[in-house]
Amino acid sequence: MTSQTSIVIAGAGIFGLSAALELRSRGYAVTVVDPGPVPHPLAASNDVSRMVRMDYADDKLYSDLAAEAIEGWHVLNERRGRPLYHEDGFLVLTSHPLESPAVERQSYDLLTAAGWPLERLDSGSVAERFPLWNAEHYTDGYYNPRGGWAEAGETVSFLVAEAEAAGVEIRPGFPATSLLVDSGRAVGLRSADGEEVRADAVLVAAGVWTPRLVREMQDMMTPVAQTLVYLRPNLPERFRPPSFPPWGADIPRTGWYGFPANAEGVVKMANHGPGRVVDADDPRDAEDAVIESCREFLSHSLPELANAPLAGSRACFYNDTWDADFYITRHPQVEGLTIATGGSGHAFKFTPVLGKVTADVIEGKPNRYAERFAWRSRGESPGEATRFAGE
Ligand SMILES: Cc1cc2nc3c(=O)[nH]c(=O)nc-3n(C[C@H](O)[C@H](O)[C@H](O)COP(=O)(O)OP(=O)(O)OC[C@H]3O[C@@H](n4cnc5c(N)ncnc54)[C@H](O)[C@@H]3O)c2cc1C
Repeated sequence: MTSQTSIVIAGAGIFGLSAALELRSRGYAVTVVDPGPVPHPLAASNDVSRMVRMDYADDKLYSDLAAEAIEGWHVLNERRGRPLYHEDGFLVLTSHPLESPAVERQSYDLLTAAGWPLERLDSGSVAERFPLWNAEHYTDGYYNPRGGWAEAGETVSFLVAEAEAAGVEIRPGFPATSLLVDSGRAVGLRSADGEEVRADAVLVAAGVWTPRLVREMQDMMTPVAQTLVYLRPNLPERFRPPSFPPWGADIPRTGWYGFPANAEGVVKMANHGPGRVVDADDPRDAEDAVIESCREFLSHSLPELANAPLAGSRACFYNDTWDADFYITRHPQVEGLTIATGGSGHAFKFTPVLGKVTADVIEGKPNRYAERFAWRSRGESPGEATRFAGE
């Protein structure tokens, strides 16, 4: 451990909590503040499910980080005694031949070269193994058995329980409104009603609200609304693995992905696409146009789900960075201040490994992933290859 002995963390999402646990295990006195309740209903980390995949086109860094994270998910499952992570696999369907330079082909090649036993599909095997899908439309793709989904809100609750058991102080009811800085050094956080938590170091991990506390990051990240669609099929048992694993269908060209029916028989879908730029405090209403285009997608892709009643819908906000990479970085000017955020719609899967990266950055220890997430000014970037960029 360095000379830092105490740290206050703003934000009890997966960035903040994973760091809290790791720092506690390294001997820090850790306090996590959050407006609460935790899991916060508006937090990006709080939902029924999040996809866990290693499939990142030719981006070896995220692919390797995801492979490590999956190991970590299994450890989390053991610690909890029942699964938070469900290794149901990840089904990648394409309506075009899986040929270079298709993004899915890049994922397939990279993962296969790394030794992962991906199972290539064609129209016949799609029809046989995944019969709900329109096999005339999806004529190619692969199934990656190493992947699945995680219970998102349950994971947050579990991390809170583990953190508290380890001696981390979790303080809901503390919306930090400003950083306390003394002689160029971050020394704590102040809340709306003037309460202060002082510490030797500060970590800001407040998701889309981060730039409210670190204003100079405002042009590096943007809240983007994504509509979540929850459907209730008549026969939910048909929408479960192995014949209905988590999936992405032409995802770099359509954005659509989804999950098996959960215990309540609800199938969740969303679009990993451009979304809609919003303010962090905007209402979380779903967009009717997205629900319509979801139905249209289903009518030719998964006809049995196309007319399923809507069980719910809402918007959740990505914290999109300009290049889709996270920020896990020390502040270049303010000593003792670190920021961990910028999930860009794909950070949840890394929950088991984010804390180590963040703690290494705080301690100035070498970490092979940290450079990618370092402080950087806004520039030009094509973004994440596996995300639909829009028409
Ligand atoms: C619709 C949607 C789908 C997604 N799908 C996937 C997926 O399938 N797979 C995947 O890997 N990732 C996915 N993601 C991304 C992933 O969920 C996020 O990247 C991740 O959860 C972000 O965690 P966070 O800790 O940065 O933010 P959050 O979870 O938003 O946590 C931030 C916390 O900060 C708190 N806070 C706010 N203001 C303050 C303040 N002033 N002081 C103190 N605390 C404050 C909030 O209350 C909140 O608890 C998805 C995200 C969305 C929105």
